[in-house]
Parts: sequence; C-alpha cells; structure tokens
Amino acid sequence: MIRFIPELIITSGREVIVQHAPAGEEACCVLLLFPHLRQVHIDAIEQDQGGLLITARSRTDHAICQRCATPAGRRHSRYRRRLHDLPASGRPMVIELEVRRFFCDNPACDVRTFVEQVPALTQRHARRTPLLRAALEAIALALAGRAGARLASVLGLVAGRSTLIRLIHALPDPEIGRLTAVGVDDFALRRGNSYGTVLIDMTTHRPIDLLLDRQAGTLADWLRAHPDVEVICRDRASAYAEGALKGAPQATQCADRWHLWHNLIQAVERSVARHRSCLSDPQADVPEQPEQASAARSTAGKGSTRFADRTRAKHARIHELKAVGHSLRAIARQLGMTDRTVI
Ligand SMILES: [Zn+2]
Repeated sequence: MIRFIPELIITSGREVIVQHAPAGEEACCVLLLFPHLRQVHIDAIEQDQGGLLITARSRTDHAICQRCATPAGRRHSRYRRRLHDLPASGRPMVIELEVRRFFCDNPACDVRTFVEQVPALTQRHARRTPLLRAALEAIALALAGRAGARLASVLGLVAGRSTLIRLIHALPDPEIGRLTAVGVDDFALRRGNSYGTVLIDMTTHRPIDLLLDRQAGTLADWLRAHPDVEVICRDRASAYAEGALKGAPQATQCADRWHLWHNLIQAVERSVARHRSCLSDPQADVPEQPEQASAARSTAGKGSTRFADRTRAKHARIHELKAVGHSLRAIARQLGMTDRTVI
C-alpha cells in the first residue's frame, strides 16, 4: 500500500505539495497519479488559484541525436520549457521542464547540437504534452471548432476554435488499406458554381478522399493510382462513367442503393403524374353520370393533377414570399427546396 504525506509549505501564495520528491513513497504516489512523468525527476508540485505547476528535469545523463541516432553525453546548455498538460481534478496543469542541449559528436552527422526530447512528454516545438494534444484532437474530431472549444473549456482544457481546427489539419490521413469497392459522388463547394468529388470506401462506408472537380480525367487518374478497385458505385453522370472506364476498365460499374431509390421515386412520380387522367376520383356512394366522368377526365387531362397542383401552389408561395422581401436563399430554406429550384 502506498502512503502519501504531503509536505505543505506556503510560499508567496503557493502551496508546495511535494518538494524534492525522493525515490520513495511520495515519488511512487506522484507517478501513480501522473505515470507520464516517469522519465523525469520531479522537483516540486505547487498549486495556486491558476492550477498546478510541476517543476521537473530529465533523469538521464545522455540523449539520442534525432538525425543520426548516436548517443550524446556532452552538454551544450540547458533551459526551461513550459508544457501544458491534462488538467488534474479539473485544475489546469503546467509542467516546467528543464531540458538540455547536447553536442552531437558523430563527425558524419551534420547536426552540431540538438535538444533532448523526453519520451511521452515532449515533442519538437510542442507546447502541449502528447496526452493533452490527443484529448484536444479527439474533441476536435467529434465537435470541430466552436462546440469543441466550449466543451474543452468546461473540461479545463484551454484551446480556441482555431487551435482545434489546426489540430485536425495537422493529423495524418488515415491508412486506406486495400480498396476493392469505391463509391463516387459529387458535392457542392459553392452550390451552383463549383463541385468536387467525394470517394467512399464501400466496405467501411467512410470517406477516403476528395477531388477538387468532377471531371472524368481527374477520376481516371485517381483510379489508376488505386488498381485494386473492382467495383465502382456511381450515379448516372456521364463524366464519372467515362472516368471509371478510362481509369479502371477492369472494374464493374453499378448504381448505389441511394441513387437506385432516388431514380425510382422520380420515375414513379413522373409516370403517375402522366397517367393521372386514367384514374377517376373515388366516389363510391354516388354513381357517376357518364357525362360527369368524361368532364372530370377531360379536366384532369388538361393538367389538373396533384403533382401539377402542388407545383403551382409552391410557385405561388415563392412569389408571395418574394413580394414581401424574402431572399431566394431564405425562401429555399423555408420551403425545403434548393436555391436553383427557387430560381
Ligand atoms: Zn547526430
């Protein structure tokens, strides 16, 4: 069982919880709470209203040159780095770490001096520990900028929305692995003006790449770089058909489930609208006179269908909203239509 008796010393408003922790029970307790500090010697842990400050220094007497991997023991200088770490019990935590600059004595190496990096604690030019960075990356990936910054603040992590977006941009692209079935579709960068192409791994249903346009040549180049593709799911755009044929002639092209349903719905609606005049209105209780039925069919045949009625009603509504000063975009949003349909 590990016992911990903190040594409380009040110095200029700060409580020094641990001072010069020996390699005994206090040190064990600190490492239990902060296992990522195993590689450093903790000089002191202090707290004030701003949070916890841990003063530490490296334990080893040498470092490995990052360029040539040669151990170096000849010291050049030392300085202090401030690293923001994960909060401890909701309190912000800063590690003030003394690091050393070493000479690389390998004559074949073009590095004269380098700064040591402490495993699991420091990275070149980083002002956050890997633990804190991983937590912020997870928040940014889940919630992006503004919402991520709000949650981070509640959890005691200090990061603005721009910082979170930068962290996402700095992440390496995930490994795609072997790709056999790919989905291709377009997306709007600026609706009506500029479109790109999104590529989906149909096995994992995750997006894997974006192309800056929806030209056949661009898709063909991408497919040539991925020769394992066996199935291409696409819509009916001729550019994608041409690109798929040029870039992956070995692949089978098919329509994906969404486009099949979408196309079927459109075809059924058009067909029903066209044949609306073939259907009589249900009037089971009152037998219809032949003249009335003929007149009704005649009226329906002139376009008085439900589809046409609905379209006319929408058209009228658009003009009403335009007349009272609504923008085209606002009208589209209100009626659940695209800007282009409203135009
Ligand atoms: Zn070196």
